[in-house]
Order: sequence, then structure tokens, then C-alpha cells
Amino acid sequence: MFPISIYTGGSVETGPMGATYNKPPSASYTAQPDLTFDDLKTKIFQLTGINHHENTISLNARWNAGTAGSHCFVLLPICDNTMWRMLVDKTLSTAIGWSIVELFVDAVPKTNDPGEKSQSNVDLPAKTSENPTHTQVCREENQEEPLPGEKAEDKESQDLTDEESIDFKSRDESTLYVGKLFDSLDDVRRAVREYHIKQKRKLVTQQSGSDKYVVKCMDPECGWRLYAASGKDGDYFQIRTIKGEHVCSNEGDGQDHINMKSEFISHLILDLVKKKGDASPREIQDFVQELYQCRPSYAKAWNAKELAIDHLFGEWKASYAKLAPYLNAIQVANPGTKVEWWSDSTTDPNVRLFRGVAWAFAPAIEGFKSCRPVISIDSTTLCGKYGGRMLIAVAYDAEG
Ligand SMILES: [Zn+2]
Repeated sequence: MFPISIYTGGSVETGPMGATYNKPPSASYTAQPDLTFDDLKTKIFQLTGINHHENTISLNARWNAGTAGSHCFVLLPICDNTMWRMLVDKTLSTAIGWSIVELFVDAVPKTNDPGEKSQSNVDLPAKTSENPTHTQVCREENQEEPLPGEKAEDKESQDLTDEESIDFKSRDESTLYVGKLFDSLDDVRRAVREYHIKQKRKLVTQQSGSDKYVVKCMDPECGWRLYAASGKDGDYFQIRTIKGEHVCSNEGDGQDHINMKSEFISHLILDLVKKKGDASPREIQDFVQELYQCRPSYAKAWNAKELAIDHLFGEWKASYAKLAPYLNAIQVANPGTKVEWWSDSTTDPNVRLFRGVAWAFAPAIEGFKSCRPVISIDSTTLCGKYGGRMLIAVAYDAEG
């Protein structure tokens, strides 16, 4: 048996011993050692009165990352049974000198935007700094938007859905033909764009949704039009109709193509970026020009590289969001590890702006006592989206 205290309706603050809550506990109860994460959430809904039809809950445990004689509380996100069991097991062991589970609970409305939810889960202890903040670069919108006045008629799309002239014969994969199958909407969009970029013809998207994709030639005198739709279970896309032939001009000037979006380019350069992480936008422009005989703008090439990095390694923002739970987990696994954050408040009380973090692993702190009284510091510049520098401090023992 172990006690659980539940805090909700207030906010997290940083006191002399680390994370603390600005309101007294809303509820407390004694739990069995084999309590599961699902049972815990059910109990929290019961005890706090949070409506489980309208909300999910976000849980952070206040964890003592210090020692029995010197408490230092950090927040540990509890998002699944594995994390919950680790917390219970560590709590039931008496080594850390803190045998109460303290849970800070946020009610998250189910209609919330997922992006906002993930941001609010990133908790940085409140510390301020006078260091300059990072800059953020705006990204080009990659969604193809219909031109003003261009709106697909629902009736026409419905008629197209009923088209029956589907030909399943094997065809040249570089062409578009009725019946051609694709794994997803993204795949059919890429194929249609690539075909027209090579043809030096331009498209307007009329509809692009989870179940249908309609494009037509940008030249109003040209009657070419393509309609694709998803399968019954939404697990594939298929070209259902292609109306007319292109009769528009295809005299390209080798310059940028309106349908060559950054997202499209990002998939072309995955291998290039993987092999050469410092590929410049100009190199990307040259690479694309050689493939398609048209040269994307510098800005498109720059954005395409950012997107390619996202595809290969995940988003910069998501990587930074993992920093707090990652270091909290290190403190749990290595009691005595010290972490210091610098962050600024924002208009959203649940979101702080990251400025910097410093940490020292517990064994390094212990080992430093036996080192010579000289510290070497070196740094390297981070060339990612947010810039910054990474520093490392090294001390040497008598044997160097
Ligand atoms: Zn045309």
C-alpha cells in the first residue's frame, strides 16, 4: 500500500526544492501496489470530478531526483503503464527517501487541437535568463490551395465517382491512366505533379481531401481534368477518370514551376540530405534542375531541406519537446543528477520558451571530487533550425 496525493486546478511553480504546486491536494487515497495506469486514471476521474466524457487527463508525477537529505523535485510525465509502474516501483523502494506519489493533473478537453495538447505537456521548470532568444523561421505553406473562384462542384464530383470506365491493364508507370492505384493521397498528388512538371504544364487543385482528389489544367482553354478517389476502406487511392487531352502550351522557360512545392522537392532530396547534411539550397536547386529542367526558388529549396530533415529525423520542435521528459527520466534513473533550466514565460501559462539547460550526471559529480582543480570547456555550434551552442566541461584525474 502507498499513498497518492492528487493536485489539480492550479499550476506548477518552482520553489527552493524544485517543482511544487500552488494549491493543496484535491484528493488523497491509499493505493494497492499492483494498481494499473488505467485504474489510476479511472480513480482520478472519480476523485476529482473531471468529466471523462469531455476530457482526457495529462499526468505529471512530482519526483524526488535528489537524495534523502537534499530533496530536488522534478516533473516526470506519466503517459503509460510502463512509466506508471516504474514510478510505483521506485516509490516503494525506500532508497529515494520519498514514499508518496504526488500527481499533478491537467484536464485536457477532447476537442483540443493535438498540437496544443502536446505543447502543454512540455513542462520546463521556471527559471529566467538574460540570454537572447532563438529566432524562428516561417515555413512556406505546402498545401496546394484552389485558386480564387475555383471551386469543385459537388454534383460533378458525385458524377465522377460513378465513372465505370476503369482499365486495369498494365501501363507505363510514369504516365497517368484511369485505374492506376496509389498507396495514399500523398502518392497520387506527387505522381500527378511530377507528370505535369515533366510535361511543363500547370495544374489547379479543385479538391484535395481524405476521400477525393480533383485537379484540372490551369489553362482555362484546356479541358484536361483528373479525378481520383480513395478505396472503400480508405487504404488506397485510384484514378477514376481523366477527361480530355492537354491542348495548352508546354513551352517551359526552365524557371520555377508553380506545382513544384517544397513538400514535393523534399521527397526528391531525401538521399541527398541523408548523405550530405550540409547541402546548401543552391546545391538543391542544381539537383532539382538536373532532374526536371526547371529550377525551384531559393526559398523553396531551403524549406524543402527543412522538410527533408523532418522526414528523416523528426521535427525540430518535437525533438526539443522531448528534452524535458528525457532529462527528467535521467534524473529518475540516476538519482543525484543535477539539471538547471533557463526558460521564459509565454502568454500560455502551460508553455515556456526554452533558452538553455545544463546538467551533470551523478557519477560525474561524485568523480569530480577526485579530479584536479582545472576544468576544460569546449563548445560546438548547433546548425539546426534553432541554432545555439552545445558546451561540455571536462575535468581530469591525476592520471589524466
Ligand atoms: Zn492543359
